[in-house]
Amino acid sequence: MSGMSADSPRLRNLLQSVAVSAAAYADTLAARPCAPSASSEDLTRALGRELPEKGEAAEKVLSDLLRDAEGGLVATGNPRHFGFVFSGTLDSSLAADWLSSAWDQNGQVYATSPAAAVVETIVAGWLLELLGLPADSSVGFVTGGQMANFTALACARDAVLERAGWPASEKGLFGAPVPALFASECVHGTVLSALKMAGFGTAQLRSLPADCEGRLRLPELKAAVKECSGRPMILSLQAGNVNTGAFEPVSEIAEIVRGENAWLHVDGAFGLWAAVSPELRGLVPGLTLADSWSTDAHKWLNVPCDSGIVIVKDPVVHRRLKASRCSYAGEEDPRKRDGSAWTPENSRRARGFVLYAALRELGKSGVRALVERCCALARRFAEGASALPRVRVENEVCLNQVLLSWELPSDVDPTLFHRTLAARLQTDGRCWLGTTIWRGRTLLRFSVCNFRTGEKDIDLTLAALAEVSERTLADLTGSAPVRSL
Ligand SMILES: *Cc1c(COP(=O)(O)O)cnc(C)c1O
Repeated sequence: MSGMSADSPRLRNLLQSVAVSAAAYADTLAARPCAPSASSEDLTRALGRELPEKGEAAEKVLSDLLRDAEGGLVATGNPRHFGFVFSGTLDSSLAADWLSSAWDQNGQVYATSPAAAVVETIVAGWLLELLGLPADSSVGFVTGGQMANFTALACARDAVLERAGWPASEKGLFGAPVPALFASECVHGTVLSALKMAGFGTAQLRSLPADCEGRLRLPELKAAVKECSGRPMILSLQAGNVNTGAFEPVSEIAEIVRGENAWLHVDGAFGLWAAVSPELRGLVPGLTLADSWSTDAHKWLNVPCDSGIVIVKDPVVHRRLKASRCSYAGEEDPRKRDGSAWTPENSRRARGFVLYAALRELGKSGVRALVERCCALARRFAEGASALPRVRVENEVCLNQVLLSWELPSDVDPTLFHRTLAARLQTDGRCWLGTTIWRGRTLLRFSVCNFRTGEKDIDLTLAALAEVSERTLADLTGSAPVRSL
């Protein structure tokens, strides 16, 4: 069994050959079609096989994988992939990610990797400073926005119950006073999943009507809070709606719940990064009035998946989320960080190294410039698109998200048009734009947070958009029955 021998030249060769392939992949990213070329059947045919009884040589396994996965890769780092909220990977963060695997450090407690623990402590401080959040907040490094929202909302639950005289760590949730939950009807789906995993059902959630940008409406919030006055309350606010980029006004909302037993959580998976820029910080007034914040580094910080961050203002509440540590983990020392004390995981990837590298590579001014540049690119895209015939920009472009619709003749079905347009752009390969359903309508959606994206990419995308939309319109004319008068 080749894999079991300590054969260092072989390992070196294997890692070097993978490095060459990985660098070639990165070099061709911009030229690579964003969409995969292989179907699920193609991939199953190429990759599927009986699990071999006898092991295979590592070199063969890797060269097969490189060849067979190729057609099913999504070029998320292509500078013209404007779907989801995809970014690239900064050079140092990709390399540090490899090292994290090579070192195979367990970020569980201080003793399992002092280097990982110290780096996480340093990165936590840097992030709080960059984002302008209270310096003594606690920070957990998790897999993504979903787990950050889950961790924060579980803290919220425990804190408001504790203040209502119900120590949940001891008594559990059964029989507890029921907190009232508030969020916009346009809240991100991961908040709903987080609440479900934290023990809540749809019956406890007050889904509040939103304005045209997806922000919960304050008069309705005020009325709902008044109705629930005296009960424990949890509010999940958005810094950066995933479709429009809009922000909910934390300071005004904090004022509405003043005097109540309320916890304010801010989901800022990408939007929280606005706080790093003096130009954009005005979008998040009162950010520090919240009790917890979630964000992703694998979005705007341009590090590889999976890297999310949860921040809690009161470290005591955060620390109490988990039960006592494992019997074999040794004594806790408050001066030494136990990474898993702040996350749902126990054994965990040492995620701090990647963040440490990315933040040093960019520096404060680099992070600011990256965020500001992407917002300028979104404005350029919106301006260019609105100059095209029939195109309407549907949102206030305050950040990095743009929604587009086409004003169509009455014999063209709008849902079919927008879906066909997106599908054709995706196969065209010059760029990737998806659709979304926004307030009941299917629209074209654009999101940019890639450090590689430049003005030329926007202009190329606009050219593709002009061409493909023209052709789609011609082909779909007559797709909807003409409405009789
Ligand atoms: C992406 C996103 C999430 C979820 O983050 P993951 O990293 O995918 O788990 C949550 N909220 C918002 C607003 C997002 O954009």
